[in-house]
Amino acid sequence: MSVFPPPQVVDDLILANHILSNEGVLDAFGHVSARHPATTDRFLISQSRAPELVESADLQLLDLRGARVAGADGRSYEEAAIHAAVYRVRPDVGAVVHSHAPSVIPFGVTGVPLRPIYHMGSVIGHEIPVWDIAKLFGETDLLVRDATQADSLAAALGPRTVALMRGHGCVVVGANLRAAVFTAVYLERNATLLAAALRLGEARSLSAGETQRGSEMLRGRAGERAWEYWVRRLPHRA
Ligand code: MN
Repeated sequence: MSVFPPPQVVDDLILANHILSNEGVLDAFGHVSARHPATTDRFLISQSRAPELVESADLQLLDLRGARVAGADGRSYEEAAIHAAVYRVRPDVGAVVHSHAPSVIPFGVTGVPLRPIYHMGSVIGHEIPVWDIAKLFGETDLLVRDATQADSLAAALGPRTVALMRGHGCVVVGANLRAAVFTAVYLERNATLLAAALRLGEARSLSAGETQRGSEMLRGRAGERAWEYWVRRLPHRA
């Protein structure tokens, strides 16, 4: 068995980096990773580089302590520990996105809960916790730099799909890259729309049952339809 995941995972990870940039979820910062489908205690992620620029030569295979075992020999992302911690405790997770998407930041600092308010937002889940690094770790630069901090974040995420990080961003997980990308994009849009709704008045969110049914609906063919569309929208693929 080769060290690296199959070409399909490598291709999807490159595309995931480019799509999340092109759709306004990631900019120069943030990252996305995929668990190795066969060697499940390894995951694939770029070396430290802006996601829009990531190429296959940038990919590194890391173990679940966040240590590099193969691939590009540049610096890893400062916050690779986030990905390692989630993969350690969530065997159901095949892909992780960490973003600083601007629209989610207000919901991490105001106490206004981020909830799904339309069917496309249902994939974010009914309840989204806010993890505050200062609670356990005091004054920091806000980055999740080691396994202890990352374990605390993963514990706050629990079995959910999204956790916000106060004053920093969020973590989004999925069964695979396409699911995680879908959720990361609609998390950003749902947050934008919820902020707009709150300027008009009270905002009614989806019920738990609506959230459940909506996300089941979107986990079907809709995900593939969106992925094809987002790939086609990439500037170098037009
Ligand atoms: Mn970050």
